[in-house]
Amino acid sequence: MTRPLRLTLHSPLTEVKGVGGTYLEMFNKAGIFTVFDLLLRFPVTYIDLSSPSIKPDSGSERLYWVEVESVRLNRIFHKKLSIIKCSARLGEEILKVTLFNRTYLFDLLKKNKQVFIFGKVEEKGGSYEINNPLVFTQLESAEVLPVYRPISGLKSGRVRKIVENVFAVLDDDFDCLPAFILEKYAFPPIVAALRAIHLPSAGDIQRVETPKKRFIYTEFLLFQLELQAIRHIFRRTRRLHHYTMGTRVQAAIKNCLPFALTADQIAAYEDIVHDLKGDLAMQRLLQGDVGSGKTVIAFLALLIARENNFQGAFLAPTEILVSQHYLNAQNFFKTARLALLTGSTPEKTRKEIQDRLAEGQIDIVFGTHALLHEGVTFKNLSLVIIDEQHRFGVSQRAAIYYKGKNVDLLVTTATPIPRTLLLSMYHDLSVSTIKTKPAGRLPIITRIVDAPKRDEFYRWLKEKIIQGEKTYIILPLVEDSEFFSNLRSLEQEEAYFQEVFPDIGWGMVSGRTPIQVKDALIKDFSSGRLRVLIATTVIEVGIDVGDASRIVIENADRYGLAQLHQLRGRVGRGERQSYCYLIPSEQKTEAGRQRIESIAATDDGFKIAEMDLQMRGGGLITGQEQSGYFDFTIGDVKRDQAIFRAARQDAGRLIGDQASRGAYLDQCLETIKKKAGQLNFS
Ligand code: ADP
Ligand code: MG
Repeated sequence: MTRPLRLTLHSPLTEVKGVGGTYLEMFNKAGIFTVFDLLLRFPVTYIDLSSPSIKPDSGSERLYWVEVESVRLNRIFHKKLSIIKCSARLGEEILKVTLFNRTYLFDLLKKNKQVFIFGKVEEKGGSYEINNPLVFTQLESAEVLPVYRPISGLKSGRVRKIVENVFAVLDDDFDCLPAFILEKYAFPPIVAALRAIHLPSAGDIQRVETPKKRFIYTEFLLFQLELQAIRHIFRRTRRLHHYTMGTRVQAAIKNCLPFALTADQIAAYEDIVHDLKGDLAMQRLLQGDVGSGKTVIAFLALLIARENNFQGAFLAPTEILVSQHYLNAQNFFKTARLALLTGSTPEKTRKEIQDRLAEGQIDIVFGTHALLHEGVTFKNLSLVIIDEQHRFGVSQRAAIYYKGKNVDLLVTTATPIPRTLLLSMYHDLSVSTIKTKPAGRLPIITRIVDAPKRDEFYRWLKEKIIQGEKTYIILPLVEDSEFFSNLRSLEQEEAYFQEVFPDIGWGMVSGRTPIQVKDALIKDFSSGRLRVLIATTVIEVGIDVGDASRIVIENADRYGLAQLHQLRGRVGRGERQSYCYLIPSEQKTEAGRQRIESIAATDDGFKIAEMDLQMRGGGLITGQEQSGYFDFTIGDVKRDQAIFRAARQDAGRLIGDQASRGAYLDQCLETIKKKAGQLNFS
């Protein structure tokens, strides 16, 4: 194929030099199809090549120029691990360099070879060490090197080359923002802004936040346009499904409900019943603190639908979470016909479930995004639950509206949402709030464990576990990462825990564990066959093992407040006294220290939500597993509150005034309306 000489932001990736075959597949897998998609993946950091250092400078990441003295390669086959240990001369000093799973560097690091490395040097007992630095055998002509997060396994260096190829032939063609907005905020033109972000000069590295603002703004604006357009449309959605609440329904509720509801739960339930009897379809948000008992309220709503001979759907963001709800539902619903549909449901079973849903032989289906798949149709879907909303985007919420006709919708949140945000993110929904937890719960006791006392702490904890306390241990990473050399990973710590807990049953779960294995491990933990579950934040949301009473969070300073609270909420779900132990990283930032202290000081999710919004997010593990509210890719509702508010206001104006929208935004809105228009608003 011949490639055109010039590119625009609209050009498909196939026209870019250096992209084809496997690379193209890798990009497509990551949702990147056009030049614009690619350029929206901003560098995570920059390396200033203009001044390599020749003496160690502990504390911050730097570029060093070193000379190799000796190299050794160790392979640990059963763990699929390889370690390169290299001793290098850095000016007057010797630097010990350790590299994990980068065997390919072994051939490059020969004695007397001079290389550049980039990372953070640490001083330990008078000698200098650096873990998993980036390594360059020669420097490029550019003075600043952008570093990218790997894209479906494509390494940073490769992404950089391709981005450079793009900019070499990129023309200015369109701007997605109308001129009056560019002017109002003094945003730079789109291609100039992208160039400043991807290829800054050494003096401009500190200033890249400014051109980024226009992309953050655009992301928020599109979100608000969709939200407000949908709200416009659905505000007028009339009820199609009529429910009765007669003695039959009452008897079913009595038969299924395993405990007495709290006052707040009753109030939320009554809100729902009120909605279901109203003239308009229900669009309600149920918010409450972790462990306050939102699930049972969602189940009651589904029960009402079922007893009125309608179908219900229950959507949750992860497979673990949805299979757990499915399991609980099997205990709760005494007669309903249930099914589970996720991305890992075998093709044959999926077909069967789809057929039965279409024929009305399934009453309630539990599922992940897989439920939004085109092939899934219902006979008479009337009620949809979306659990733990902040992991679902608005467009996914919209997709549900498009599934059924005028369905009633109940959305639950994982944690309380600060009031100020509630308004801008959910202003299409009415809100019920559960404030209090079920009676008999003891507040969780939270303790900070100093990093140097870690070994001693685990020895002590082991005794508690032997005495019968079920425990979660949370580590931030699955495997060691060149970007986060100071964080602990499951892979690295496996041997450590083997040593600490030689004779206690424990298991490890991460986002990469196959779902069947994950399910089995969580069941084993639930039944008590396993006493310790070591996991990444995959267990953050919703996992409910009632008698788990201790949770340890490592590198705790690197999580946001809301996320820490959510993790802590895995314990304290039964009547047992529960404990949360926070182990900070050895070097923590001031913001990290503050977060740990705040979380130790209060267990009130509503207070924490407000504090979270006020606090600065320095040093967070972002981008890996999003910590904020909603999954924006560039913006962060917390950090960029002012931009978020501005975008919200502008969206209101743009919706009402077609002339001011400009072609691009106009087209976005048309698409939204078209999707929504497929509905029958009778
Ligand atoms: P969340 O609000 O975090 O989703 P869940 O719905 O998972 O919380 O409920 C947490 C635990 O509390 C569950 O084990 C649930 O069975 C239990 N629970 C909920 N409501 C009550 C209640 N009224 N009385 C006793 N236990 C309850
Ligand atoms: Mg829940």
